[in-house]
Amino acid sequence: MTNAVAPLIEQLFLDLHRNPELSNQEFETTKKLRSYLEKANIRILELGAKTGVIAEIGSGKPVLALRADIDALPIDEQSDCQYRSTKQGVMHACGHDLHTCVLMGAAYLLKAKESHLKGTVRLLFQPAEENFSGALHFIEIGALNGVDAILGMHNNPNLSITQMASRAGPFSANVDRIEITIKGVGAHAARPEAGIDPIVIGSQIISAIQTISSRTVSGLDAVVVSITKFLGGNTWNVIPETVEMEGTVRTLTPEIRLKVKQQLKSIVENIALSMGANAELRWFDGPPSIINMAKWVDFCQKIAEQEGYEVIDFQPQLGGEDFAHYLHHLPGAFINLGSQSPYALHHPKFLVNRDMIMPAVNYLAKLAEQGLIELAQHR
Ligand SMILES: [Zn+2]
Ligand SMILES: [Zn+2]
Repeated sequence: MTNAVAPLIEQLFLDLHRNPELSNQEFETTKKLRSYLEKANIRILELGAKTGVIAEIGSGKPVLALRADIDALPIDEQSDCQYRSTKQGVMHACGHDLHTCVLMGAAYLLKAKESHLKGTVRLLFQPAEENFSGALHFIEIGALNGVDAILGMHNNPNLSITQMASRAGPFSANVDRIEITIKGVGAHAARPEAGIDPIVIGSQIISAIQTISSRTVSGLDAVVVSITKFLGGNTWNVIPETVEMEGTVRTLTPEIRLKVKQQLKSIVENIALSMGANAELRWFDGPPSIINMAKWVDFCQKIAEQEGYEVIDFQPQLGGEDFAHYLHHLPGAFINLGSQSPYALHHPKFLVNRDMIMPAVNYLAKLAEQGLIELAQHR
């Protein structure tokens, strides 16, 4: 069976890589996935997803979900592979084409043994991971209804194709966006005493923010606060009235997230106040951190070893991943498989090592099959 599936999945991978689509615009990708599922007689659930597909194999309880993300990035591909993106400015630079075809391959293998499955495997081909809206959309339309546990996989370019990595507890970061407005009083540049200079206040705020990671939280708690935009002023001889800043805060736990938010607000407002200005912090919650359940990490590691993977301890990363939303509703785990790319995720030359595809397909299928048994035993 594996031999028959390999060329089909390879073809799907090349097709997806050549024809990437941005978040929430995965219309052609969705059509292709539906046709692959229909060809194999895999049941599609019509839940009204705008893009993306939800399907099922097997029947009855328990239900285990497997999730793959399907969207690409606004990046101009610069790799010289033969199957380079045909769309200028759009590229599968995060390997979601790989995740998609690995899940499809696993679906084909599972379909072939459908009558032996001890429950139902739900397949989530999720859109719009890169802008963090897809998981929320899927949850809203009921993709998790009846599901008992969920597993997800992302490729990791730093690992070899024979390596699997995961960890219990925090795996990715809380990814929050901030905006700060400082309102002072404009003045002639030669007479600063007549105004309140928001540029000087802004720079003091930026310096003080650096103390959050060094003085407010323990050295063992990961915190990053980055100001990535600082806008103020129009010319050389006028002190402006306002400064606008933007940036991001990355943390690993809900407790530290809240603590950093409070401290940041206090620094911004009080420094501005002490210098006679007003400042406002606006905080936009992004996806929370993935908190993996130890039991499911152990399970994924055990199956990985059986499948011949070397199991690696994973250091939590401060990147975001919207799979975290699923784990707020369900037990489960998120894992990495090595894709051995010389370039990082989101790099214009990022390219997965395709030799990882079929081992990953077999592994994912085994996770689903054994995961159902695991769930059935603990009901
Ligand atoms: Zn990405
Ligand atoms: Zn990704």
